Amino acid sequence: LDFCKRTPKVELHAHLNGSISRETIEKLAMKKNPELYKDLRICFDKGKAETLDNVFQMFKLIHQISDNTEAIYTIAYDVIHEFSADNVKYLELRSTPRDVPSSGMTKSSYIEAILKAIEDCHKENLDIVVKFLLAIDRRNDLSVAKETVDLAERYSRLSGGTVVGIDLSGDPTVGDACTLVPILRDAKFRGLKLALHLAEVPAVEETEEVLKILPDRIGHGTCLHPNAGGSQGLVDTVLQHRIPLELCLTSNVICQTVAHVDNHHFKYWYDQGHPCAICTDDKGVFSTSLSEEYCLAAETFGLTRKDIWTLSYNCIDMIFAEEAVKQDLKSKWNSVKSYEL
Ligand code: 5GP
Repeated sequence: LDFCKRTPKVELHAHLNGSISRETIEKLAMKKNPELYKDLRICFDKGKAETLDNVFQMFKLIHQISDNTEAIYTIAYDVIHEFSADNVKYLELRSTPRDVPSSGMTKSSYIEAILKAIEDCHKENLDIVVKFLLAIDRRNDLSVAKETVDLAERYSRLSGGTVVGIDLSGDPTVGDACTLVPILRDAKFRGLKLALHLAEVPAVEETEEVLKILPDRIGHGTCLHPNAGGSQGLVDTVLQHRIPLELCLTSNVICQTVAHVDNHHFKYWYDQGHPCAICTDDKGVFSTSLSEEYCLAAETFGLTRKDIWTLSYNCIDMIFAEEAVKQDLKSKWNSVKSYEL
């Protein structure tokens, strides 16, 4: 674990509200409603969310404390510091903008609170580059999805490139991503990057439709392979276009979309030399860290120190940032390589 902690890392799949730490939950919930804190603590004390369904119940509770811009700012600020303390040098956060009329929070002020946290961390000279993806929930209809894409385009401009693209997430057992394909295609056309949750549960037709857009990255991709309810055609498309996969080991095991970590699809894709990024998904909800995820991958699949370093280094080519940022990160990695390996 020490080596994984010391290795500089890239985090490409982190949902803001799922990444909230216990400390931040306690800080916000106690201020808002101690009863709510009791419920949240029970969830977190159980430690593990156990099923996909429970995880989405936990998000509902967390959303009750993150219903105002002050809380959103605090969560983003704390989460960035926590990733930085784990030696993450580049972070892409994703979050679903929400309107909460009772607190006066609008989607725009939600986004601005996160951008302010990113900017404040930058001003503190924290050694981490942070980018931001706006998430569309699968349950959203086309008009809400279009609003999110419009906001992403607007804030990409206003933030000078901190907002980089669109995520598609939300409960994979609800809704149909096919209906959102036209707006996702439009987002790509407008120059936004697409990191889309895909095939978290078996859904061959939906996955085929979404893959036609050729997203820039795929979240999870658990059920692409025929052995997991997918099809060879899906695997071939992903391989042929070398679409990077964001893989979250603990999350998939806890949500039971993967039966046991030994069976995680990381192995299949890694063995093919396919671009794979180890990610946390929701470090708070799943009580993990990026270093622990690397460590779990190393222990489960017998990776050496060199493998771990290379796995982390290769993520740099998957980031949604300009070439100069990639070069900076590569030199940072190379400067620790000589004495670590
Ligand atoms: P937020 O967007 O509020 O910052 O983060 C929580 C949201 O991220 C959840 O409500 C859900 O829409 C999405 N999310 C978090 N983890 C997962 C996951 O493992 N799978 C999917 N499909 N969505 C997730």
